[in-house]
Amino acid sequence: MLADLVFVDAKVWTMNPSKPHAEAVAVRGNRILKVGTNQQIKGLIGKKTKILNLKGKTVVPGLIDTHIHVADFGRCLMWLDLSSAQSIKDLQNLLKEKTKQTQTGKWIVGRGWNENHFKEKRLLTHKDLDEAAPGNPVILYHEAAMICAANSKALALAGITSKTVTSSGGSIDKTAAGELTGIFRGSATNLVWQAVAEPTAEELVDATSLACQQIVQAGITSIDWIILSENELSLIQTLQAKGKLPVRVNVIVPHEFLKCASGFASTDPLKLRLGGAIIFTDGYLDSKTAALMQPYSDDPDNSGKMMCTPQELAAWVAQVLALGLQPVIHAMGDRAVDTALSVIEQTPKKVRFRIEQAAVLNQQLVKRLSAQDVVVSVQPKMVPTEFEVWSATEHLGTERARWLHPLKTLLKAGVKVAGGSDCPMEPLNPLLGIQGAVTRESYPEQRLTVEEALRAYTLDAAYCSGEENLKGSIEEGKLADLAVLASDPTAVEEGKIKDIAVTIVIVDGKVLQG
Ligand SMILES: [Zn+2]
Repeated sequence: MLADLVFVDAKVWTMNPSKPHAEAVAVRGNRILKVGTNQQIKGLIGKKTKILNLKGKTVVPGLIDTHIHVADFGRCLMWLDLSSAQSIKDLQNLLKEKTKQTQTGKWIVGRGWNENHFKEKRLLTHKDLDEAAPGNPVILYHEAAMICAANSKALALAGITSKTVTSSGGSIDKTAAGELTGIFRGSATNLVWQAVAEPTAEELVDATSLACQQIVQAGITSIDWIILSENELSLIQTLQAKGKLPVRVNVIVPHEFLKCASGFASTDPLKLRLGGAIIFTDGYLDSKTAALMQPYSDDPDNSGKMMCTPQELAAWVAQVLALGLQPVIHAMGDRAVDTALSVIEQTPKKVRFRIEQAAVLNQQLVKRLSAQDVVVSVQPKMVPTEFEVWSATEHLGTERARWLHPLKTLLKAGVKVAGGSDCPMEPLNPLLGIQGAVTRESYPEQRLTVEEALRAYTLDAAYCSGEENLKGSIEEGKLADLAVLASDPTAVEEGKIKDIAVTIVIVDGKVLQG
């Protein structure tokens, strides 16, 4: 049997523990035919075989992102990126360019400006935006998200005048004469945002399709797409029907939408399937809504909040299992993880359980996660943010902060850790996630090796969705999903892993990039 495609002279990281390195890979159809030395592959090369000599480049299994919101990512891509604007003039030029690609009267949404980067060192005004985009309503979010600038057309469509009042938690900037400047803060930003027209179905398809292309370019060949709104289910099916789903998609629906998901059909379950339902048991650390056993260290009356009782969780888990889906339990604080584990421990095992985040742990919880073979799905890029931006040590105290995302301890206890991005809340680049896991500054004893971090985005990510026999490593018979990296991530400086170029991406045996 001859190969359709071979990689030779490569540095292959197979992620197969019994044969971790190789020099060549042969692919036939959508499967890996052989992994070995150049010599061993030679006999599989025929006249029609495509040969790619990688000259020492690195081949890894196609990367897997276990937590991504693709429709939202697409929406963000439609927005005008203003982060490069060094002056108000720069920003006006970017806005003018955008108006050329936008129909008159249609909304323009942008984000990423910061007056401290402007040489004028002042906030935007509605007049600045009117000059550049007189024919379109415009809303431009500050880098700090809770501030926005709007132009006159936007103010008119939102019905905002100098007499408009805001609810608590918001404010509207005015001149000394009491006129609107165009700047809105806090909850007052919603006064403008609520007037922004929803993108059309066609615009959403185009934007999500663009998001999918960027996902492939990042070396990702499989995703767990966590949907946030009901209409995303039909969006995904439209994309599949149009041939615009280049990566493998495991759809995870909020358990509240299970009814609407019952009609979900896929023409190719290896490429698209409804795999799980997400159940939220608590909130997030930054808003101090993650449920803790003991109060937040700097907030003695607040221990966060459980969003369900153990009985409710058990009933929802049973409902998800009855549909043959995987229960995906969001549990951030130690109290939430404890509740999730109590339910898992009492449930007859039918599928693999996964917990999203399991951020605040302790020795006992780690033991119980290991005993139940629960996969912990994390976004390693968030770890430094929680320590540095959210000041975890102050909010949790030193003892608990030591148990915040203890990834190495989890691996040592035999718990599988899977990696994701949470894009668009965090950047898409999986190499940035790998770098984050390898270089964390706080509690450096919890750093992973590059190989361990890569496993979180490949083999253990496949294990997370119960597909480790199909993908996640470069092994004969597995799906031919591969990514070629310009440099070996174990050989570059740790701080530069994120910059490694992805040169070729193969999904289902087909070269999609390179
Ligand atoms: Zn998310």
